[in-house]
Order: sequence, then C-alpha cells, then structure tokens
Amino acid sequence: MSRVHTRSTTSPEATADFGAALGAACRGGEVILLSGPLGAGKTHLTKGIARGLGIDPRQVTSPTFTLQAIHHGRLPLYHVDLYRVDSPLELEHLELFEEVDGPGVTVIEWPERGGEHLPPDTLHIRIIPAQGDERRLELTLEGDDPPVHLAGCHP
Ligand code: ADP
Ligand code: MG
Repeated sequence: MSRVHTRSTTSPEATADFGAALGAACRGGEVILLSGPLGAGKTHLTKGIARGLGIDPRQVTSPTFTLQAIHHGRLPLYHVDLYRVDSPLELEHLELFEEVDGPGVTVIEWPERGGEHLPPDTLHIRIIPAQGDERRLELTLEGDDPPVHLAGCHP
C-alpha cells in the first residue's frame, strides 16, 4: 500500500520546520527515507527531525566518511547517509539497519544506494528542487506497516 502526499517549501528554514514536525510526531521505530539530488535539502530536513526529537540540529552534518551517526534526544536518531556506497554489496557485512525495530528513529539519505538491504516499512520523502529555493516534497508510505502517523504532519 502506498499513499502519496505532496507539499512544497520555499526556504531551508521551512524544510527544517517540516522536519521538526515529523520528529515531534515520532514515537520510536520509524524509518524515514530521504531521496533527492545533492543539495536538495535532505540534510536540512534531517536537522529539523533532530530538532523535533530534542537534539541540537548543529550536531547533524553530512557524514563524509561515516555511514551512520547516532544522536541522543527524546529518542535516539540514527542518521544514515549512503552517498558513498557504490554497491549495495558493500552493506552486506555491516550492521547498519540493526536498530530499525528498536526505540529510535532512522533517517536514511540516498536510500536507493542501499538496494535490498533497506528496511521495508518507511515514510519515503522525495525532495524535488524547483525554481530558486522552492522544493517539492513527495511523501509516500511504503511497506505493509508504514509509519502512517507521520503522513499528516504539518509544521
Ligand atoms: P542534501 O543533503 O540533499 O545534499 P543539504 O540539506 O545539505 O542537501 O543542502 C541543501 C541546500 O539547499 C542548502 O544550501 C540550503 O540552504 C539550500 N536550500 C535552498 N532552498 C531550500 C529549501 N526549500 N529546503 C532545503 N534547502 C534549501
Ligand atoms: Mg546530505
């Protein structure tokens, strides 16, 4: 089952505010996939999610050499960035998605590089750059047991 909602933002702050609403609505166990080209705003959205979880957003950066960063707030935030993964085979022996059934919130940038290793039940947000600072956000609930409580979030 998959339901699509769309919205758009016109500034980095508005994208982060939407992320904060998502973070505030998280109960633990959610997986949020963030797709979109370089500079789309995936990390800005993640900073907002962190804020909504009571984490200082300045802690959230684009990991250069690490695939995963863990931040501790109201719930733990597992921030995964697969940008540097050339083949899903590289993920075979990593324990990257081990905690998705745990109490934390998992955010995955560049999920398409994870192939079949991705968790099945997700809120997938595709960020599509438009004119100037405008970003179109397409939200899809994926899997049999997706985090439906995140689909109606508004900043
Ligand atoms: P990504 O993680 O997708 O590569 P970042 O979040 O690191 O992207 O960077 C997004 C860039 O786009 C930042 O420089 C930000 O200031 C800019 N930007 C402009 N408009 C927006 C918007 N509406 N939402 C998010 N970022 C925006
Ligand atoms: Mg990024």
